[in-house]
Amino acid sequence: MRAVQYTEIGAPPVVVDVPTPEPGPGEVLLRVTAAGVCHSDITVMDWSASEYPYPLPLTLGHEGAGVVAAVGPGVEWVTEGESCVVYGPWGCGTCRKCTVGKENYCLRADRLGIRPPGLGAPGALAEYLLVDDPRHLVPIGDLDPVRAVPLTDAGLTPYHAIARSASKLVPGSTAVVIGAGGLGHLGIQILRATTSARVVALDVSEEKMALAREVGAHVVFPSDQRAPEAVRELTGGGADVVLDFVGLPATAAIAAACAGVESDVVLVGVEGGSVEVGFGTLPFETTVTAPYWGSRGELLEVLDLARSGQVEAEVERYGLEEAPAVYERLRARRIRGRGVIVP
Ligand code: NAD
Ligand code: ZN
Ligand code: ZN
Repeated sequence: MRAVQYTEIGAPPVVVDVPTPEPGPGEVLLRVTAAGVCHSDITVMDWSASEYPYPLPLTLGHEGAGVVAAVGPGVEWVTEGESCVVYGPWGCGTCRKCTVGKENYCLRADRLGIRPPGLGAPGALAEYLLVDDPRHLVPIGDLDPVRAVPLTDAGLTPYHAIARSASKLVPGSTAVVIGAGGLGHLGIQILRATTSARVVALDVSEEKMALAREVGAHVVFPSDQRAPEAVRELTGGGADVVLDFVGLPATAAIAAACAGVESDVVLVGVEGGSVEVGFGTLPFETTVTAPYWGSRGELLEVLDLARSGQVEAEVERYGLEEAPAVYERLRARRIRGRGVIVP
């Protein structure tokens, strides 16, 4: 089968032929119908040899959708031909976190060498994907897999980040979204669908600012050093929740400067940004956190938002052979919404 692989530290990904996997005991083989391209893959491919933790070559793609092509011995309740998305943050399934569906926070995955597809295990940017356990599949019925697949990460991650701050997103509150890219454009829609907060979006690109408006941001500002002052003026003192979907040092600084008293600053992007915490550094009782992905239950909820038409991923569709060029386009911040590969 064809697969998009990262083969050498610092080199661009390549499309290669690899053996089609066969499902072993307890495993499920999906014929991939859609796979999303996330900015985290670029971060992974930018790591130096000493930082890079995964095996090489690595088949990329941690947002996957597919139809069940074959099941291994012992797998009974999965039906061949069923259309599914993959819950990506694989854990052990039995620790205290996994037991309540939070496999993203598995306490044993590292020790046991369990890695998400595309982030250690072979990923979804291929014609077929091996899923380690049927509990990592969520049937999607007649939802379009191309529109649904970004929800497994670009939707689930903001959904979790927003849900944990729900008590602060009351009528009259303000949420700031920094970066209206893959995650941010869905974050804006999730805020609109699940909270009554006023949504302020910041981005550096005119196209992304226009997209933010289209998907429901009430107010849009350019993301520069004047943005915090504009947010503070609009809110009379600072936002209640600030979600940084970029994660650069510059955006983390903007996030901190937009925060009001008793606010949450949520660092979702992973590009080296951080916020100093200590008495006098931030408005009183500001919470700073860096969440990772989301729970299986939250994935079901975000899929339901799509089913009811309250959230819809903007997608650019490409073939498998175009994947290396899609990564370049993503690096140049030119993808509108999510780039999705249809093998
Ligand atoms: P993306 O490239 O699709 O979107 C980034 C957006 O940020 C673009 O719209 C771009 O124009 C905008 N941007 C760039 N510089 C900016 C600035 N200075 N101010 C405001 N906006 C700016 O990326 P993505 O796939 O949405 O991923 C976003 C980040 O989230 C990445 O760092 C990714 O690695 C991270 N991520 C984290 C998790 C997690 O669990 N914590 C999960 C998925 C992705
Ligand atoms: Zn991702
Ligand atoms: Zn676990």
